[in-house]
Amino acid sequence: MTMDKTTAKKSAGGKSKMDGKETLLSIQDLRVWFELRRFGFGRAGHVRAVDGVNLDLKQGEAIAIVGESGCGKSSLMKTILGINEITEGKITFEGRNLADMSKSELDWYRSQVGYVQQDPFGALAPFMTIERILEEPLIIHGVKSKQERMRRILKVMEEVKLTPPEDLLDKYPHMISGGQQQRVVIARAMILEPKLIVADEPVSMLDASVRVEILRLLRGLQETHNLAVIYITHDLSTVRYFSERIFVMYAGKLVEKAQVDELLESPKHPYTLALLAATSDPDADNALEIKEVPPGEPPSLVNPPSGCRFHPRCPYFMENVCEVEVPPEFEPEPQHFAACFLFDPEIDAPAP
Ligand code: SF4
Repeated sequence: MTMDKTTAKKSAGGKSKMDGKETLLSIQDLRVWFELRRFGFGRAGHVRAVDGVNLDLKQGEAIAIVGESGCGKSSLMKTILGINEITEGKITFEGRNLADMSKSELDWYRSQVGYVQQDPFGALAPFMTIERILEEPLIIHGVKSKQERMRRILKVMEEVKLTPPEDLLDKYPHMISGGQQQRVVIARAMILEPKLIVADEPVSMLDASVRVEILRLLRGLQETHNLAVIYITHDLSTVRYFSERIFVMYAGKLVEKAQVDELLESPKHPYTLALLAATSDPDADNALEIKEVPPGEPPSLVNPPSGCRFHPRCPYFMENVCEVEVPPEFEPEPQHFAACFLFDPEIDAPAP
């Protein structure tokens, strides 16, 4: 890892290539804590699943949130989807605060945010035909004309390459392949013409042979519809497919963010370095999973380590620094941010 401390400074914003586009989703100092209760003894603490996350997403932008399981990325995703309650901070969509939305505004919000689940078979009701699965969101959101519903179903099936549609409409999920099931999930996420798709490990349960096809499909939909996409994954090797920026998450916090090429070619945070080292091949055509995880275990989110939460696993740990204070975000390269004291120009840190 190279580091030029002369350029390191605490983050102070700046221009990115997405500047000029409207902000679609803004997450400000978000905390999502779950209360732990011990039977008969009342409250036993909190799981700090998301702990001070800031993130802006522009219209039409694709980002990836990357981290090991248990890092808080799924809790963050469920909070964006309105499933988890916000403990502190706020999420705004087109400038509207989710917490202030009325029921009808929340219905509108849910129509604007499509969700692609990790397990397509588990996500599809086994007793519903493909037609019924795709029709249901249209009925719920008030599309009264059967003719209009069918027009939209056939259109979205063509787009996700579920063809010919007439051969598939009356099939049940167990009658089609895993790849086709995931295309149905994507079609359902797209059918209300959302502005944002949240894709939670959308290829991790698919055969290797169809993973690339599904990622390319998502990329094509993103470009055609100017969709914003949040791609949640543990796998850095797939993010080049359609992410413009990467956010690396560890123990409830974002620890590094940058444009995708910049981050993959010049990672800064020791946790990102460990994730990349564990990735078998950064070329997504050849490799689709991390073979090893960084040494040690992700920390408990009930009693996370003091200071930098990565310090018990970090090979660059600096005594009396890293375990004492939470590292703020520094900007070692323009628009490349890392929450790590190695980039504090006031600390004489060892060059990693
Ligand atoms: Fe490692 Fe310290 Fe940086 Fe944390 S702040 S990642 S412990 S060097």
